[in-house]
Amino acid sequence: MRAVRLEATGELHLREVERPSPGAGELLVRIEACGICGTDRHLFHGEFPARPPVTLGHEFTGIVEKVGTGVSDFREGMRITVDPNIACGRCPQCQRGKINLCENLRAIGIQKDGGFAEHVAVPEKQAFALPDDLDPIHGAFCEPLACCLHGIDLAKIETGSSVIVLGGGVIGLLVVQLARLAGATDVVLVTRSADKRRLGETLGATASIDPGGSGFPQSLISRDGLLPGGADVVIECAGVRETVEQAPSLARSGGAVVILGVMPQGAKVSMEPFDLLFREISLISSFINPFTHRRAADLISSGAIKVEPLISRRIGLGEAVEAISNPARPGEIRALVLPSLG
Ligand code: NAP
Ligand code: ZN
Repeated sequence: MRAVRLEATGELHLREVERPSPGAGELLVRIEACGICGTDRHLFHGEFPARPPVTLGHEFTGIVEKVGTGVSDFREGMRITVDPNIACGRCPQCQRGKINLCENLRAIGIQKDGGFAEHVAVPEKQAFALPDDLDPIHGAFCEPLACCLHGIDLAKIETGSSVIVLGGGVIGLLVVQLARLAGATDVVLVTRSADKRRLGETLGATASIDPGGSGFPQSLISRDGLLPGGADVVIECAGVRETVEQAPSLARSGGAVVILGVMPQGAKVSMEPFDLLFREISLISSFINPFTHRRAADLISSGAIKVEPLISRRIGLGEAVEAISNPARPGEIRALVLPSLG
């Protein structure tokens, strides 16, 4: 079968490899779609530790083609989504229920062969069933949505509250939708691209603002702005210095900032502890998807979260190497790799 293999930093190739066979407790999955995310590009550039040689791809969905011995909950032909993050279940963090902080965490598509391939073998316990009538590729959004859900859970959004979302990429556009579902009545998307602002408004943002505009941030938080005094919750989804530094000033006194964006290791930002303290701003970090994958799958299956508008292009495995080794195209939200396209 064909697989996109990371063989060393900067060495990504489409290879012919042996099709895996499912071990005990494993499922052999025929991949229908796998999303290209920023992490795949970081892995390619050596900015995030991988374990080459390895097949990349951690946001995937597909059909169970074969089940290994001892598999009980799945059978051939079922459509599934996979939580790529495998916790050990035994370390002190896992025993506290913090499986995202597992001391032995391993991820499919990072340390273990992943979804930019025709097939992958995955442990049954990482798989979640999807309905047969779901668009076969929409399940590829369960993983990013599960990460956003953890952030929304930590934000403790109350019905009728206000939320500012910084960054209108796939994460920001999923967070906008989740914030509305969680009961926020005002959800303001802050992102530079006019197309993303428009899309954000069709997906549930009650307003959107260009942070490069001359009136920003007064247009947002001043007495006659959209959210005078700031938002109850600010969710940082861009992962850049400007937005991380800006976030506390956009929260109301007593409000919270949730950081979802990932900045490079070693990067520093400047913040004013005096302001954080005297305005009692909570700073909350949200890392991956502990116990949120099932809910993410249900939100996508039910249509409560819209993912079709987030798909910018569909490509085959043959084009995946070029797409992963280069930055996302201008305006691109999510590119999906469909092995059926070649
Ligand atoms: P993305 O496609 O790069 O989206 C980030 C968006 O931020 C861009 O589309 C950009 O849109 C916007 N942006 C950039 N600079 C900005 C600024 N100064 N002000 C406002 N918006 C700005 O990335 P993504 O896939 O959505 O992921 C977002 C972040 O979440 C990344 O850092 C990713 O690594 C991280 N992430 C975290 C987790 C987790 O578990 N915590 C999970 C998945 C992803 P414009 O051009 O419109 O400004
Ligand atoms: Zn553990």
